[in-house]
Amino acid sequence: MFGAAALVVLVLAIVLLRGSWFATERDIAFSDFLSAVEAGKVQQVAIGDQALTVTLRGGRRVRTIPPTGYVSASPAFVSDLVHRQIHVVVQPRSEAGAFSFGAMLLALGFFALVGFTIYRVTAGRIPSLESRARVADGETPAVTFADVAGVDEAKDEVKEVVDFLREPEKFAAIGGRMPKGVLLVGPPGTGKTLLARSIAGEASAPFLFASGADFVEMYAGVGASRVRKLFREASKHKSCILFIDELDAVGRQRGGNSLSHEEREQTLNQLLVEMDGFAAHQGVVVIAATNRPDILDPALLRPGRFDRQVMVGCPDLKGREAILKVHTKKVPLAPGVDLRTIARGTPGFSGADLANLVNEAALLAARHGSTVIDDRVLDEARDKVLMGVERRSMVITEKERVNCAYHEAGHALVASVLPNADPLHKVTIIPRGRALGVTMQLPEADRHTHTKDFLETQVAVLMGGRVAEELFMGHMTSGASNDIERATEIAQKMVCEYGMSPLGPLMFRKSAGNAWDGDRAAGLSEDTARRVDDEVRTIVMRGYETARQILQHHRPAMTAVAEQLLEVESLDGGELKAIVDRFATRVN
Ligand code: ADP
Ligand code: MG
Ligand code: ZN
Repeated sequence: MFGAAALVVLVLAIVLLRGSWFATERDIAFSDFLSAVEAGKVQQVAIGDQALTVTLRGGRRVRTIPPTGYVSASPAFVSDLVHRQIHVVVQPRSEAGAFSFGAMLLALGFFALVGFTIYRVTAGRIPSLESRARVADGETPAVTFADVAGVDEAKDEVKEVVDFLREPEKFAAIGGRMPKGVLLVGPPGTGKTLLARSIAGEASAPFLFASGADFVEMYAGVGASRVRKLFREASKHKSCILFIDELDAVGRQRGGNSLSHEEREQTLNQLLVEMDGFAAHQGVVVIAATNRPDILDPALLRPGRFDRQVMVGCPDLKGREAILKVHTKKVPLAPGVDLRTIARGTPGFSGADLANLVNEAALLAARHGSTVIDDRVLDEARDKVLMGVERRSMVITEKERVNCAYHEAGHALVASVLPNADPLHKVTIIPRGRALGVTMQLPEADRHTHTKDFLETQVAVLMGGRVAEELFMGHMTSGASNDIERATEIAQKMVCEYGMSPLGPLMFRKSAGNAWDGDRAAGLSEDTARRVDDEVRTIVMRGYETARQILQHHRPAMTAVAEQLLEVESLDGGELKAIVDRFATRVN
């Protein structure tokens, strides 16, 4: 009896998923559909969830599948059809969108019958609430690292996961400590999901997918039970990737008081329990993605959980060119098309935007009846995608960009000239979060204590940004506020905690509220407080002066670095050093 019911469910599942069991429509290529429109052969188009059902003149019906998101992303598409006096019908959004009304009725009847059977067999326990969780089937994705471009650092960082997944036991035997959880952090469309899939693809490991939003339901307990189920599924494989997209949907800090917070907390707690529950050798690696690491519950980031964070940023010029190369591999590119030029014209585009651009170009080419994608079509596609990009991302004026380039070049140059500075890792003027640009230094070894020289150098490097603005742009911007805050903080510690000022090796306590006051209880006389202030000021100003001298002296190198930044958007330590060296020899 139960076996029979299971069989019926299976058949039904196939029908629902494929939709084509009843459907009589023949599938045609999307480009053929566009040609048919062009040729005036189309009478009606019914826009479904995933497919377009096309009625041709003469009554024949065919089906075609547009690229994902194409219809919603191309408002001109529908108006174009209407213009051609084609009847446009939009089918209600539903999973059944792909097949006809009659088939739907039939399926409904089926469903009622099967539901009733299951109801009787399982005495009322219908597990349908749980099974909606979008847990992918654990297939091995076909994508590899070759499909992910422009994020080389992130790829390097996750290579270890691949080694581990290939041979978990061996990895453990040679003492490799595998993080259980890897958190991919970056803005939407930069390839986080793609990267996670490619890790599984590289390692030939199954890939289980769930989205944080799937866990957040209004029914108490459903989310937690879905988490449990997901991990149970994962533990069935020898090794696998369990990917949780949009982790922030479940992983927000606990303690809110919205209606759904209790349910979310339960779900989050279950996730923590499950992550603690499986041993590292089990071969399950949990990878999660988010663009809001700042709102995650700190418990998620503790050792043994998502203790490794990998940044997946927006691509720079080189990165964009590499991504374009990946996506144009599958389309007929006209000879002479220079991807570098396209990359140059698409600052701020994410990987997804670039993929979209290539898609649009292919469609436009098809619509123009062309067999190759040329510069003109690529340009047109870019303008189309650009609208979406601008709406989403911070719009930066050219002036701000130039200012940012000089600001970051200032930090970088001071850091590369002063002997005690940490080596320069990367300078970029690609905005991330709220910052317009970043200069990153990487310590050669973990530092536990800092020398006075090192701290003074840090202050000078921090001042480099502001000094550059003054020297080269002739103005000051508020962009230096974070630098100023950090420099002041370092100087305060040097004076008040580390005893590195003429005031001597004494601890000067600061009262709460971040203001100095002469409160005797704090051990500071009014006079001392003023002297502390003076010393802090002296240290910061000395750093400012150091930075000013360096940047004055290296003017040509500064300009060269800033111009190069404007051109390619990011430089690594070696590239920067090459520029500085070139000018150093010329000056002498
Ligand atoms: P995210 O998960 O970060 O929002 P996705 O991985 O979903 O981004 O990216 C969506 C699509 O955009 C990918 O399937 C791919 O076609 C394209 N894409 C995004 N980033 C890259 C990249 N770095 N290299 C190649 N393609 C990319
Ligand atoms: Mg994603
Ligand atoms: Zn700065």
